[in-house]
Amino acid sequence: VLYTFFDSLFQLIMKITEFIIRLAPFGVFGLITKVVATSGLGIFLSIGKYMLTILIGLSIHIFIILPLILFFLTGYNPILHFKAMASAMATAFSTSSSSATLPVTMKCVRRNIGVSNETSSFVLPMGATINMDGTALYECAGVIFISQVLGIDLSLTQQITVIITALLASIGAAGIPSAGLVMIFIVTQAVGFKDTDVAIIIGTMLAVDRPLDMFRTMVNITSDSVGAAVIAKSEGENLYN
Ligand code: ASP
Repeated sequence: VLYTFFDSLFQLIMKITEFIIRLAPFGVFGLITKVVATSGLGIFLSIGKYMLTILIGLSIHIFIILPLILFFLTGYNPILHFKAMASAMATAFSTSSSSATLPVTMKCVRRNIGVSNETSSFVLPMGATINMDGTALYECAGVIFISQVLGIDLSLTQQITVIITALLASIGAAGIPSAGLVMIFIVTQAVGFKDTDVAIIIGTMLAVDRPLDMFRTMVNITSDSVGAAVIAKSEGENLYN
C-alpha cells in the first residue's frame, strides 16, 4: 500500500513538474513583457551590456587569471593545459553542466595532463560541486545589474556583502544548467532587495542565460582542472608528458 502511495505521489509530482516546465516559456514571455512595458525597449540595450560585461569578465578570468595561476604555481605552459582540456571545455560549453561534464573532465585531467587517480578523484568531484568561480563572478555582476535596473545605489558594505554571499551561493549552486541564476535570490535577499521586484528582472535574465551559462560552466571546469594540476604538482607528480 505504501509503495503504491509513494509511487502515485511521485508520478503526480512529475506531472506537476512537467506542467510547470511546459509553462516556463510563457512565464518568461510574460515577465519580459512586463519589464519592457515598465522600462521601455532600452532594457534590451541594458541586457546587451550586461551580457558583454559578464563575457569580458569571464574571458579575463579564463584566459588571463587562470593561466597566470597555473604558470606561477606549477611552472607549466598554460597552452598545454588548454590543449589537454579541450574536449572537457567543449563538453562543458555544450551541456552547461559541470556535473554532466565531470567524467570528461576526469578523463582529460588523468590521460592528457597525467594527474594521478588519487589526486583527480579527490579534487575534481569536489571542484565540480563547490569550486564555481565563473558562477561567483556571474552572480556579482548579475546583482549589480539588478540594482542598476531597480535604480538602487549599493553602499560599500552592501557591495562587500554581495561578494561574500555570491561566493557562498556559488559554493551551494548545483552543477546543472542555470543553477547560478536561481541562487542570485540568496544574494539579492542578503542586500535587502524585494523578491517580487527581483523576480521580474531575473525573468529577463533567464531569457538570455543560456550562452552565459555555457561560458561560465566552461570557466568552472577549467578552474577545477587548474586546481587539480596545482595539487598534483605540489604532490610531486610529473605532468603534461
Ligand atoms: N551551469 C553551471 C555549472 O554547472 C552552474 C551555473 O548555473 O552557474 O557549473
